[in-house]
Amino acid sequence: MKKEFYKSLSFKLGVLTVIILLSLFTSAFMFNSQIDKLKKRIDYIYFGNYIPVLKLHTLDDLFSDLIVCMKTHKKCNRTPYFKNIKKEWDYYNNSYKADEERKVVDKINKDILSSLTFKTKLSTYNLMIEKINFLKEHEKKVAYKKRREFLEEYTSMKDYLFYNMIILVFISFLFIAFIIYSIIKKDNQLKILTKKYKLESITDGMTKLYNRKYFDKIFDNMPFISNANNWKSAFVILDIDFFKQYNDTYGHDMGDLTLKSVASTLKNYFNREYEYVFRLGGEEFGVILFDIDEDILKDCLADVNKNIESLNIEHKNSKISNVVTISIGAVIYEANSYISCNKLYKMADESLYRSKENGRNQYRIYNEEVK
Ligand code: GH3
Ligand code: MG
Ligand code: MG
Repeated sequence: MKKEFYKSLSFKLGVLTVIILLSLFTSAFMFNSQIDKLKKRIDYIYFGNYIPVLKLHTLDDLFSDLIVCMKTHKKCNRTPYFKNIKKEWDYYNNSYKADEERKVVDKINKDILSSLTFKTKLSTYNLMIEKINFLKEHEKKVAYKKRREFLEEYTSMKDYLFYNMIILVFISFLFIAFIIYSIIKKDNQLKILTKKYKLESITDGMTKLYNRKYFDKIFDNMPFISNANNWKSAFVILDIDFFKQYNDTYGHDMGDLTLKSVASTLKNYFNREYEYVFRLGGEEFGVILFDIDEDILKDCLADVNKNIESLNIEHKNSKISNVVTISIGAVIYEANSYISCNKLYKMADESLYRSKENGRNQYRIYNEEVK
């Protein structure tokens, strides 16, 4: 039972570990893919919009400088301006453009490249500046749009990650709760079983009284417990009279029923704390009473004799009565008298023998002087 429980527990813990590992891998993977997406977006905004706009600004400045040069110097050397304009424009032109944008840029590309000759008039450069400004505006609009899209995507990505994490945490939590629940349940079942087995191992199957094994345990400890608490304690042996004849007359099954009736009478009578009733074997019972006074013991034993008699179980072949009776022998243990258990048992047995000898259906408490 225990083995099976631990086997299923380790299986569950294994599943839990796999789930947690899978959750971690999934979240790491999800996080990674989302970060990649984000990086692409940022790259797109930076290299697709921000850098081209910067290039357009440079081109604007270069054309303006060229105009200033042509206005101030009659023989302005345009070559370095052309070189720089070409370089910046090529960079801009070769950067990524959406299809529609590409058409517009291609048209302006022709104009820009054809303007880079020594014959070009100043007014054409002004026109180029206008075109560049048009492109700047256009790029800005696209950049705003992309940024808005990026922000929207970023928010939805964040939500996506957040809800996925919540779901993963929730699933793990549910599984952990399930495992804890089953452990507690199994633990309770085990406790109940242990209790049951414990009780079964100390109980006599037929009479439901404590068995001989448990008697040995309690009886062995009786002197110590009495000494420790400074109690007087009693050990009592009870034996059904002429029970062999009873079996012979009424059969073994009826004998069993009678044993059970006697047992339950004893159990009901000695039912307080520190009172233990045992089946010592056959039709012989034992009672251990802690913290008891001799007078009270006498009353109890007299009561027991009466109670068994008043069960009124017919026993026509008993030599002393026409109903089932019981003979009792008892001994009192005084605290710190240090009498051994063996001796105590013999004393109680001797008292029982005396009760039998004296006519049965009676009790006798061991008394050194009377002996
Ligand atoms: P005494 O008055 O001297 O005690 O006589 P007795 O016949 O009771 O004593 P004896 O020891 O001769 O016989 C005990 C009988 O108890 C014998 C046995 O068949 C019977 N017995 C022991 N255990 C059981 C049991 O579990 N069920 C039944 N039905 N009888 C049992
Ligand atoms: Mg007997
Ligand atoms: Mg007997």
